[in-house]
Amino acid sequence: MVMGEMTQEVGIAVIGGGPGGYAAAFRAADLGLDVMVIDEAPRLGGVCLHRGCIPSKALLHLSQLINDAKASGELGIVFGAPTIDLEKVRAFKNRVVDRLSDGLMRLAKQRGVQVVQARAVFEDSRTLRLQGADLAHIKFGHAIVATGSSEIALPGLTFRPGGRVISSTGALELADVPGRLLVIGGGYVGLELGSVYAALGSQVSVVEMLPRLIAQADEDLARPLVRRIGETFEAVYTRTKVADLTEGDADVEVTLEGAMGRTVERFDRVLVAVGRRPHSRGLGLEHTKVVVDDRGFIQVDDRQQTAEPKIFAIGDVVGGMMLAHKAMYEGKIAAEVIAGQPAAFDAVAIPAVVYTDPSLAWAGLTETDAQAQGREVRVARFPWSASGRALTMDAPEGLTKILADAETGRVLGFGIVGRDAGEMIGEGVLAIELGALVEDVALTIHAHPTLTETEGEVAELFLGSTTHLLPPKQR
Ligand code: NAD
Repeated sequence: MVMGEMTQEVGIAVIGGGPGGYAAAFRAADLGLDVMVIDEAPRLGGVCLHRGCIPSKALLHLSQLINDAKASGELGIVFGAPTIDLEKVRAFKNRVVDRLSDGLMRLAKQRGVQVVQARAVFEDSRTLRLQGADLAHIKFGHAIVATGSSEIALPGLTFRPGGRVISSTGALELADVPGRLLVIGGGYVGLELGSVYAALGSQVSVVEMLPRLIAQADEDLARPLVRRIGETFEAVYTRTKVADLTEGDADVEVTLEGAMGRTVERFDRVLVAVGRRPHSRGLGLEHTKVVVDDRGFIQVDDRQQTAEPKIFAIGDVVGGMMLAHKAMYEGKIAAEVIAGQPAAFDAVAIPAVVYTDPSLAWAGLTETDAQAQGREVRVARFPWSASGRALTMDAPEGLTKILADAETGRVLGFGIVGRDAGEMIGEGVLAIELGALVEDVALTIHAHPTLTETEGEVAELFLGSTTHLLPPKQR
């Protein structure tokens, strides 16, 4: 430490102001602790709010409007082709982000949480050096590392500002609507942002190295979405890799190599969406006892505590599902443990949602995982073609699925594909979390006609009989 440099003592230093970091900070402040959040960005919200979940959902809402307007012709209401004013679209998206980030900054202030813009580096297990701030050092009682993750580029490839090869951040900036867009990676980002550009008018192709798109979800659940992608995208290449990629002035030349052999194609833009890597390098963690595994994830126990008792870590940087709500849950655990409460990560189910059209959501055990684990489960599926509500919404292609222990009937997993699947998965998560039996779900009265009714009917079907479908034996 250099003499004369400013040092401040804080109870908890939270490094990273994304959903995990701000949830941890706010919970700690509510528990009466003295908290500072340090982030390189000037405002709270992290990738999720500024360059991820929120802007993408604003754009996906607009894509849904376009798709609905197009589909309504068949239902007797004909709209003309949409006129897309990109400037206004960007303004809408930015308005949403600004409103939410203003709210977060206000909440931080009202709670007395100090927000400092700087890059934080550990000097030892009690001290952080702040780069880029007037304040040079922090002596902390506890630290919570919530530094998140960033997009993986392909080997030898970098995302150049203004370049034709873009990451999700670039795609969300919506510089233009490219004529032909290649999406590399058929996971969450690839399908969500690919769908946005397809709705806006791009000819979208997707290349995925695995045998199928969105391989995290059970195949039967993914099927209606994969079918729709097949209809709305120009091409879907599975079991395929990008063998070569050359960015020229006018386009990008891409060599695809896979099940269909080797082809060379030209695209106006290429979106790389092949996953994210944790932000654990360059943090000075080597000056502490914190253990980082060979993939860069910080090792923590079920209390989010690292090998250095005063340092906790949460969110994408500790691995597992790289989802904002999982980070927020972990952040609150860390804050409570530091406050002396008997908290630990004991959530049974973390919901996953893909906000496409149709949307896809699942929680708890998947059928694929159950098979891999050799676990005896029973499954029931309720097709939305038998749901009055789904038909009134012209959404008959959906499916609601329940998975339960074969012997006890305890609910272990839930899956939904169809309109608003993400809004409905909460019931499944709650059932799993409460240790509900399938019978409990079946005996819960669901409003008629609603999409959530399919969650009650699938449970009834599991038990042998439901009103709107013949029992399996008679079908
Ligand atoms: P992902 O892991 O969901 O998907 C990446 C896909 O790319 C995988 O299917 C993988 O097999 C494929 N892939 C990897 N390398 C490839 C290659 N060289 N060529 C072709 N395919 C390749 O990752 P993502 O879509 O980049 O999203 C990153 C993270 O962000 C996810 O882990 C997710 O948790 C999070 N996210 C969540 C949401 C949501 O909750 N709705 C939305 C966007 C992102």
